[in-house]
Amino acid sequence: MALVSAATSIALLGLVPTVTAGSAQAGDSAFAPQLVTVDTPTREHKRLLQSLGLDLTEHAGHDYVEVLLHNGVDRDTLQASGLGYDVRIADMNRREAENNRVNAAYAAATAVSPLPSGRDSYRTLADYNADIEKLAAMKPGIAKRITLPHKSLDGRTVYGIEIGRDVNAAEDGRPVFALFGVHHAREWPSGELAMEFAYDLVTSYGTDARVTGLLDKSRVVVVPVVNVDGFHQSRTDGALLDLRETDDGGTVTILGTPGNAYKRKNCRLVDGVDTPDGTCAAALTSPGGFGAGVDLNRNYGGFWGGPGASDLFADPTYRGAGPFSEPEIQNVRELVSSRQVTTLISNHTFSNLVLRPNGVHPDTIGHDGLPVGNAPDEEGLKALGAEMTAANGYANIHGWELYDTTGTTEDWSYNATGGYGYPFEIGANEFHPPFPQVVDEYLGAGAYAGQGNREAYLDALENTVDTTTQAVIAGKAPKGATLRLTKTFATPTWENSFTDRLDTSMQVGATGKYTWHVNQSTRPVVQAKLVEITNDEPVRSQSYQGGPTTVGQAVDHEFVVTETGMDVLGVTLDWPTPDDLDLEVYRKNADGSLTKVGSSGNFVGEKESTEIAAPSPGTYVLRVINFASTTATYTLEATLFDSTLVSSTEVPGLIETWTLSCEKDGRVLQQVPVVIDRGEQAKVDLNTCISRWKSVL
Ligand SMILES: [Zn+2]
Repeated sequence: MALVSAATSIALLGLVPTVTAGSAQAGDSAFAPQLVTVDTPTREHKRLLQSLGLDLTEHAGHDYVEVLLHNGVDRDTLQASGLGYDVRIADMNRREAENNRVNAAYAAATAVSPLPSGRDSYRTLADYNADIEKLAAMKPGIAKRITLPHKSLDGRTVYGIEIGRDVNAAEDGRPVFALFGVHHAREWPSGELAMEFAYDLVTSYGTDARVTGLLDKSRVVVVPVVNVDGFHQSRTDGALLDLRETDDGGTVTILGTPGNAYKRKNCRLVDGVDTPDGTCAAALTSPGGFGAGVDLNRNYGGFWGGPGASDLFADPTYRGAGPFSEPEIQNVRELVSSRQVTTLISNHTFSNLVLRPNGVHPDTIGHDGLPVGNAPDEEGLKALGAEMTAANGYANIHGWELYDTTGTTEDWSYNATGGYGYPFEIGANEFHPPFPQVVDEYLGAGAYAGQGNREAYLDALENTVDTTTQAVIAGKAPKGATLRLTKTFATPTWENSFTDRLDTSMQVGATGKYTWHVNQSTRPVVQAKLVEITNDEPVRSQSYQGGPTTVGQAVDHEFVVTETGMDVLGVTLDWPTPDDLDLEVYRKNADGSLTKVGSSGNFVGEKESTEIAAPSPGTYVLRVINFASTTATYTLEATLFDSTLVSSTEVPGLIETWTLSCEKDGRVLQQVPVVIDRGEQAKVDLNTCISRWKSVL
């Protein structure tokens, strides 16, 4: 393969310790959970990090991954690996308590926030359920509560909301946009933004022409909290963290169960064994309870069990006992299998990313013995990603550029249905930041004010109804007939395959004509694909030493890019004292003026880094600002990363069909195969069904 730094990587890989951190109880009771930034200059370093069983966040760049260390054993494992790291948040419990104080102050000072719901604080699970009922009651003609088919492991009912014109009428062939939140328990904003979009749609229908037009042509299904058990535990434990006694002389100190404020997985307590209803909270006492459970975003059947998913129960990315073993994920599977979901977004936190398939690097050897390659719809997926990131300011990248994953929502949904699917990684810094940041992420702030994820979701909804990115089947059929599109196929896991079935239906209206917006008949996973072997490695690095500086002073260093076609310019700033330098990066224009292209202003004590995508040739100014630092020296490093094409091969594909049935009272009167591609329209008159309709009772 084209990984050039093999010598150093193999040396590193020789150091892999066999200890699995997540399986141990807290090894060091004095150790508070920490968020650390681990240096991963090559993909080999990322693979080494992934092999350690540590709790990787969804925040990573070309040369780093952030990791949550829950206990001293985790820290020792990371240190033994030989990977370098910096501590970014030294005490997550203290940070949680600080956030709780900020949140309380914001709520006290805010009567009605600018969010569609007016909320000024994070919802509890009860709040989500109440809001879903409230919206359905507010506009029963366009919003209804849906109950997902499976209760959670701990016995909770999972609710969603369906929104669209005449929402209670029979399915009439409109395409569906599906929006999910909280697969991972601690990622609270991922549910908030989904719920706010539901509020927005329901309250804007009839007054906002754009929203009204979109809901006339589509249905939107929002499930704000997929992992209800895990979220409930994270949310309630997180609220308990209160360090007032130590911080400002208060009289109350309540230490919650901090491990569970940062719980990731679901409430599977014993692998392969059902969890008795109502026992999860009592069983998962802190610390160490974070180790139990299944990573719900590794439990989907598509490529289940491949790179980036663990087969060890205690690991943070545990894939589960089998594909779709978890009821919370069976819920999503059945929802997506029974609707024509042409666009799907699954929200996560954090890293300011819009990710797209595939979840593993293109040169990874896949289930069929061939390199996985790019998604067949790379161009279209990237274009919609670009539109959405123009609204929220996030980076528009492949899933594997974060790190390798398999068994994710999109690995299955995109490859089984063809509907576009994206994970969003919301927010810059942490799993559940102070609530005002949630407001900004939804509505947009700074350069993105008035856009934000609200606009990104609307872009996704526009794509949902866009006939150039989906297929349309239309024709004549008997009034009142049920039309059904089905497809049964083998979905590949990483090692094997399982039988998968899509079964969607609609009812023909009074005109005797139907129009059905559907996904293409051939699954992406069997389509022809382009396999590109690329080499993404650092090509040139330049170091600068500086200091001392005085508080308020800014020092500029210049870095000249002469190379064309570079993919990333990464700039890092490091210094020995635990105080505050900031970093800004500018591009020098022809007239000498400067345009800011990147910045990093982290918390006190955290090191700074920023990445500039596709840096064009020219002069870049790297500005070090002494915000509050006594350091005598600092080190600034600029690195250019390039992704070069090593080889390109076209792998031929298959053509698959939908089976279209015309039914009267469950009896099939006509069945025809339909082959249709993305962007195509097919006319299918169901004349046999029409002629038999009257003679069949
Ligand atoms: Zn997540």
